[in-house]
Amino acid sequence: MPAWMSADLAIQASYFVTAVLFIMGLKRMSSPVTARSGILWAGAGMAVATAITFLYPSMTNYGLIVPAMLIGSVLAWWSGKRVAMTNMPQMIALYNGMGGGAAAAIAAVELYRGGTEGYVTTTLAVAGGIIGAVSFSGSAVAFGKLQGLITRSLRFGGQQLLNLLLLAAALALGALVAAGVNSSFAVLTGFFVVALVLGISMTLPIGGADMPVVISLYNALTGLAVGLEGFVLENAAMIIAGTVVGSAGTLLTQLMARAMNRSLGNVLFSGFGDTGGPATGAVTGSLKPIEASDVGVMLAFAQKVIVVPGYGMAVAQAQHKIWELCQLLIERGVQLRFAIHPVAGRMPGHMNVLLAEAGVPYDLISDLDEINAEFETADVALIIGANDVVNPVARTDKSSPIYGMPILNADKAKNVIVIKRGQGAGFSGIENALFYLDNTRMLYGDAQKAGAQLIQAIKAVG
Ligand code: NDP
Repeated sequence: MPAWMSADLAIQASYFVTAVLFIMGLKRMSSPVTARSGILWAGAGMAVATAITFLYPSMTNYGLIVPAMLIGSVLAWWSGKRVAMTNMPQMIALYNGMGGGAAAAIAAVELYRGGTEGYVTTTLAVAGGIIGAVSFSGSAVAFGKLQGLITRSLRFGGQQLLNLLLLAAALALGALVAAGVNSSFAVLTGFFVVALVLGISMTLPIGGADMPVVISLYNALTGLAVGLEGFVLENAAMIIAGTVVGSAGTLLTQLMARAMNRSLGNVLFSGFGDTGGPATGAVTGSLKPIEASDVGVMLAFAQKVIVVPGYGMAVAQAQHKIWELCQLLIERGVQLRFAIHPVAGRMPGHMNVLLAEAGVPYDLISDLDEINAEFETADVALIIGANDVVNPVARTDKSSPIYGMPILNADKAKNVIVIKRGQGAGFSGIENALFYLDNTRMLYGDAQKAGAQLIQAIKAVG
């Protein structure tokens, strides 16, 4: 057997191992208990696929590849270690954009050098190129918005028409290349430039707070682009990784949109979620403040407390203090649970990650479906920086932007304590009817500071 054949066998066998590791990793990521090991499994898959690539007999340019890999690995390790949990969405945007950009770059290299043979392969390269380029520039804008580098959403009349025209132009130029009519430097460059501009102009009008859904969509597109370029390069690992990322990203996008009771079209084209100012909308009643010492007594003598964390807990990084507070209550014999809404915070699993970081055992954490019936028997619903996910207007007000979104039934608890800094709106920008109910009291302050005050108050009860 010639040497190249044994290398090929080793490569294909390794790609099979890679596929198994990716799929097992993804499976393990579906539960918080095994998620951390799932990341390691998938990472091991990627390491195998990368290492085996060096066995390709046609492999050259080690002088460029190895330093690029070293620089990339060091930067990724350093940024991964440093990133704050609240900045995770923009980091994902950045890495996702790089995946899309890499797929577009592969398409560019193959198309510019005329490396694709036949209509099918060229069409796949063109399709991967446009999707990858849109994902790259769109993710870069998403990163800019989440990082606060782009503060305004650019909107003007005829914007959707412009996007349609850009898409049509990119498709027309791509068709010229794919059909073999014209693959000149000018046409190819025009194709990539228009695709990049399309990604930017599609993303600019979308509200900053909707970016996690958009990133998830671009993540799915990146997977698709990588898969398509995998066919161009005849690389099984790329096809498998791309397909897994593409389908997982599509499912996640759908789940996020559904949990917000919004269609993907509404997320992409309505300019929703760009508020952040004071709350709007008519709600009757008054806000009734309460002191930490009084809340401490209420919690200390409660039988059942349900804690509802939200975006404000993430902003305040209050998870450790809140868990310390909860442990005090558990020691006193209080029956305590955490209720997690699927879109609490600003990214899927945001609250689960924070609570896991603080060391909260998984069996104390319940999803919306599991816990909602229990609020009726709870003495206190303790809301930590959550707003939209407990807003009862979602059940009643058809004109509300969150109408129809399933919410946590915190209003059904005997007492509701809301920790937030002031009158700030949630993501949807609307008033929260829960805050005005007779059984609700507002404990104003930063969630971490309020947590510390409550700990003192409970200790003072003795
Ligand atoms: P919200 O965004 O509705 O509300 C957060 C509240 O936290 C604000 O009202 C704010 O009030 C308060 N807050 C901010 N900082 C602090 C602080 N330091 N200490 C105490 N409170 C603070 O959060 P929810 O988690 O309830 O809802 C999430 C929203 O985000 C939903 O509308 C969801 O659809 C949306 N979304 C979620 C995504 C996801 O994947 N999870 C993705 C995209 C959007 P104040 O300023 O007065 O303190």
